Amino acid sequence: MPTSDATPAAGDALTRTEVAFIGLGAMGRPMAANLAGRFPTLVYNRTTSVATQHAAAHGTTAVADLAEVARAQVVCSCLPTDVEVAAVAGALGPALSPGTVWIDHTSGDPAGARDIAQLLAGYDVGYLDAPVSGGTDGAARGALTTMVGGDAEDLAAVRHVLDAVAARVVHVGQVGAGMAVKAVNNALLATSLWAAAEGLTALAAQGVAPEAALEVIASSSGRSFATETLIPDRVLDRSFPHTFALALLAKDVRLAGSVLAGAGVDGPVLQLVEQLTGAAAIELEGADHVELVRVVERAVGVELSSLQ
Ligand code: NDP
Repeated sequence: MPTSDATPAAGDALTRTEVAFIGLGAMGRPMAANLAGRFPTLVYNRTTSVATQHAAAHGTTAVADLAEVARAQVVCSCLPTDVEVAAVAGALGPALSPGTVWIDHTSGDPAGARDIAQLLAGYDVGYLDAPVSGGTDGAARGALTTMVGGDAEDLAAVRHVLDAVAARVVHVGQVGAGMAVKAVNNALLATSLWAAAEGLTALAAQGVAPEAALEVIASSSGRSFATETLIPDRVLDRSFPHTFALALLAKDVRLAGSVLAGAGVDGPVLQLVEQLTGAAAIELEGADHVELVRVVERAVGVELSSLQ
């Protein structure tokens, strides 16, 4: 239900919705800040000082005790994987009021999402898996895309909350479908990043400047987010900002492998990308996802740089 369609009385009720956000990481911090612009927003983070700082900076209310989250009607989470969400949901579930809806923005395992939904259903709490794309920049602008799995009725009940963080909300199916779409999307991101790194380093080794090659690709059929944005903005200037951990991308590609396996699809291309990305995450511990380009650069002995 878009906010703009609401009557004034319904509008009041909508803005009185108390929302809680669990997990103030790179994505959670800006998402919770955007929620606070529209709703009273409680924030909980494993490291409490992060929540306290968020409250001071964005007008949210920090809670140190997870149980305090239970007074919200809508609970949002954005944690590394479904495993952490399951642990939090297990601890918080009994305290939640019936009718609460849990929106999980984590990129996790579809099967894990279905387990969490079942656990929460036992407390009469609705669950939507609603992973997001658009990165930290999209999160800051409240312009994410969210792919939602779960009941249409639950989605309609919290659509006004999702509208505070996302410019595009797509209902992709039942619980777990959002996680599955997200995993496949990120496997495509990893694939195009590896392929672009290989192609551009080969061209550079033969004397073609990366900028010239990228200019051609930008108006040709081989273009991708990797060639249009990630390599021009983060690799050529060697800035490699830390916005999305390589380990999290490796997790997503692995999950995409399970999605394919669950559907009986062989997927040799994604299997190789899963292997490469998993190995890179171990080799470059703590790195940002775009740094997988460095693995190719080292193997070829060429840097994709505009700084020479
Ligand atoms: P971060 O690593 O920046 O943040 C992780 C958050 O989870 C922190 O708040 C951390 O708390 C908390 N956390 C970690 N372990 C636990 C635990 N065991 N129990 C409770 N809380 C825990 O991750 P991101 O924000 O980058 O990513 C979050 C999710 O969003 C992931 O699933 C990721 O794949 C997805 N995503 C990320 C994008 C990005 O560009 N970064 C884009 C789209 C999706 P603490 O502060 O205590 O460490």
